[in-house]
Amino acid sequence: MPCAVAKAIARLESAGFEAFAVGGCVRDSMLGRTPNDWDITTSARPEQTAALFSDCRTVETGIKHGTLTVIMDGMPLEITTFRNDGEYADNRHPVKVTFSTRVEDDLSRRDFTVNAMAYRDGRGLVDLFDGIGDLTRRRIACVGDPETRFREDGLRILRAIRFASVLDFEIAPETTDAIHACRALLQNIAAERIREEFCKLICGVGAVRILREYHDVIAEFIPELEACVGFAQNTKYHHLDVFAHSLAALSYCKTDDLVTRLSILLHDVGKPLTYTEDENGGHFSGHAAAGVELTERILRRLRFDNATQSAVTVLVERHDIPIVAEERAVKRLMRRMSEENILRLMEIKRCDRLAHAPEYSVPPPELERIPVMVRELLAADACLSLKTLRIKGDDLIALGVPAGKEIGRLLTELLDAVIEGDLENERDTLLQEAKKRIKK
Ligand code: ATP
Ligand code: MG
Repeated sequence: MPCAVAKAIARLESAGFEAFAVGGCVRDSMLGRTPNDWDITTSARPEQTAALFSDCRTVETGIKHGTLTVIMDGMPLEITTFRNDGEYADNRHPVKVTFSTRVEDDLSRRDFTVNAMAYRDGRGLVDLFDGIGDLTRRRIACVGDPETRFREDGLRILRAIRFASVLDFEIAPETTDAIHACRALLQNIAAERIREEFCKLICGVGAVRILREYHDVIAEFIPELEACVGFAQNTKYHHLDVFAHSLAALSYCKTDDLVTRLSILLHDVGKPLTYTEDENGGHFSGHAAAGVELTERILRRLRFDNATQSAVTVLVERHDIPIVAEERAVKRLMRRMSEENILRLMEIKRCDRLAHAPEYSVPPPELERIPVMVRELLAADACLSLKTLRIKGDDLIALGVPAGKEIGRLLTELLDAVIEGDLENERDTLLQEAKKRIKK
């Protein structure tokens, strides 16, 4: 337990209150994982906690729900009063939170047995629901009756499969059944909350297994993926249906980079819409473009930030375009994509290829060669953008080109010529060429 946490607990106790570390931090410590954050639960009322920590910086995170964030030795600690949640409204929010003096009440309202343990030095663990047993069995199980708990708060459905993915745990049979039975409750949950859980889920080590077993749950907020489930490809290049192929590709992914993993999951989402068949079997021409449209719709619906939306969209769009390991081609690519996205694209292509039918599953050597070329070109400070072009808009204005669109167009033309190797990136050469083009 970090020093700051022990200090905060000791201060609460010496004022006569009970206080414990609780939830995720207890779970993660026992698993030997580093906790994201440390939460403290206490019998002290919020105003009592505030008075006790008046010498520390505090943030009133959720006073109504009994939570005060205290910055202790630079570490933010969420200190929450023991709570009884009572009735829930709209499948998400407790109607009225009442404070309690018993840690038992507070543990009973928590979602899963492994999240419902409290700990403090000296007194040890308070574990009313055999959280320890489930940690050893590596199992997610609801505290109490799963259906009731999911009806109280539908987000728990997604939290269950998120924890199973991240911790690589199984889900207890009754909890599993309730997840499937109650999945439609996700319709009442805010897109942002769904997105947060979904992102953690797909970056977890158990992501492929969970997505396979719970695709019906994912379908509640990404129905476009459900259309891929069982969608046969009827081509010699593929031995798996579209969804199984996407999951196989994800299973080869070496990074936990969200953009890469989202792109892999969605790269073929346009296939069901573009399927055609002739005597040679199934074809999916235009599936990348169709995938772009669906991807935009999905990411917007889940309120992803613009940067993520545009990166994933561009990667889905280009996942299928062959790239040659030639300087000119790589430079062209570098004009359109950042180094980061090019590296992601190579990883997506590698995973996609590995998930093809065995005879077609060897990744081409370019995928390793291109990242090296990109680094070399960047190191050599190759001219790839208007920024590094040795003439500027002002130079063209000095040559008599009127300020405006024409300047940009001319500069871009010159840059293209440099990238194609038709022109040196040299001031005099560029000026001469510019003059020629202006005359024309
Ligand atoms: P992590 O922070 O690693 O994502 P965590 O378990 O700490 O996981 P938080 O969302 O930080 O998850 O919540 C802290 C604790 O609050 C949980 O461990 C759980 O005991 C409780 N909790 C959080 N959300 C819910 C919920 N929707 N229903 C019931 N209990 C919850
Ligand atoms: Mg937490």
